[in-house]
Amino acid sequence: MAAPITTISDSKDRQGLNLIAAHSHIRGLGVTPDTLTPKPSADGLVGQQKARKAASVILQMVKEGKIAGRAVLISGPPSTGKTAIAIGMSKGLGEDVPFTMLASSEIFSLEMSKTEALEQAFRKSIGVRIREESEAIEGEVVEIQIDRSVTGSNKSGKLTLKTTDMETLYDMGTRMIDSMTLEKVMAGDIISIDKASGRITKLGRSYTRSRDYDAMGPDTKFVQCPDGELQVRRETVHTVSLHEIDVINSRTQGFLALFSGDTGEIRSEVREQINTKVAEWREEGKAEIVPGVLFIDEVHMLDIECFSFINRALEDELAPIVIMASNRGSTTIRGTNYRSPHGLPLDFLDRVVIISTHPYSPDEIREILTIRAQEEEVDISANALALLTKFGQEAGLRYAANLIMTSHLLAQKRRAKEVDSQDVQRSYMLFYDPGRSAKFVAEFQGRFIGEDGGVTLGGVN
Ligand code: ATP
Repeated sequence: MAAPITTISDSKDRQGLNLIAAHSHIRGLGVTPDTLTPKPSADGLVGQQKARKAASVILQMVKEGKIAGRAVLISGPPSTGKTAIAIGMSKGLGEDVPFTMLASSEIFSLEMSKTEALEQAFRKSIGVRIREESEAIEGEVVEIQIDRSVTGSNKSGKLTLKTTDMETLYDMGTRMIDSMTLEKVMAGDIISIDKASGRITKLGRSYTRSRDYDAMGPDTKFVQCPDGELQVRRETVHTVSLHEIDVINSRTQGFLALFSGDTGEIRSEVREQINTKVAEWREEGKAEIVPGVLFIDEVHMLDIECFSFINRALEDELAPIVIMASNRGSTTIRGTNYRSPHGLPLDFLDRVVIISTHPYSPDEIREILTIRAQEEEVDISANALALLTKFGQEAGLRYAANLIMTSHLLAQKRRAKEVDSQDVQRSYMLFYDPGRSAKFVAEFQGRFIGEDGGVTLGGVN
């Protein structure tokens, strides 16, 4: 079965399990909202200010719905926060803006073609915001008007209610609204109206300000409850991805496939029908398109066919923002003999804006490790932190971060409350970093199984 592509909503579900994942300390891009200035350390992100600023500008444009169909590449050495910044962006997107994460290797599955897997990832990243209003029922209040000019106060006014059934029209025409009550009413509240006095009583939910009420507009609809209470009727808005609509309408798959993730290939005719339907909804004002973000990690793992697919897909009217990450310098484009920066074909690279990330200073490494220790609820001494920082500089941030938990377990074994440098040192001896491992392999090359499957005892080839 093809591995389902992870979406942020999936990972949000997983957070319910309280797992501490590699990026669970990241809560946003850590920029001030008005000027988009990155703080040195905020929202779990440290340093990398230029990249964070650039990412926040892109994020702002996505949020304003100004861009779609663009490609951004985050490039930089390993462990310099490329994925972390993409996650930071995802946290800043609106609740219903889709964010899909795809590791390039995921698309090389036997279940579906590479381009089908990419197409699905693209369509998972486009939201369709659908507005639905239930049919008016008999006796329902369909219109409320508040004429504030009568009293000159924005908190009271003349209230007129109209119902679908004119015989039950409320005689509210000349009543003043109790300003204190009105202040407390907002969309979603259940209210009752005393027909004799015109007094509105709020029956549910919490205290709120009058501007919430103002925001509802003069023709907010109320629904009459059977016992004479009125409930503010809200439009139901839900956002689904184009992919979800595809799956539900695919006769071969059916909506249950959404739960199993085993959606298989979807026929192009189904997608065409869905596109036509969505275009109709848009024209009728029933739906709007919410371009989201597709994050493709390790993008250099894609091959030339995938790049040409993405190139074309970005030109589609329904295209998300594609953010890619690569830690490669000049490398061969898969499926060709050509070398190119980041392994991206030059014509594709041409249309990409690039954000680069840089290696961290020791202070930044220390700060990130401190945040990780807090996230993992590990107390750590100053000496231990200094040693971890040193290992982080020498062997990489990811390696040092991994030593936090192993050192903690060692500290627990000796019944210590806090990780000390001896625990970090022991972890360092027990767990190799890639550099030492490579050295070990080089030294004992002859004892490992080689490409031909042979081992030479005694290390002599
Ligand atoms: P690779 O090229 O190897 O995929 P990457 O650049 O995507 O690396 P990340 O996975 O983002 O690196 O970073 C490695 C670890 O360090 C993650 O746990 C990440 O959350 C954390 N990290 C990296 N940069 C920062 C930062 N600036 N602030 C806080 N945490 C960071």
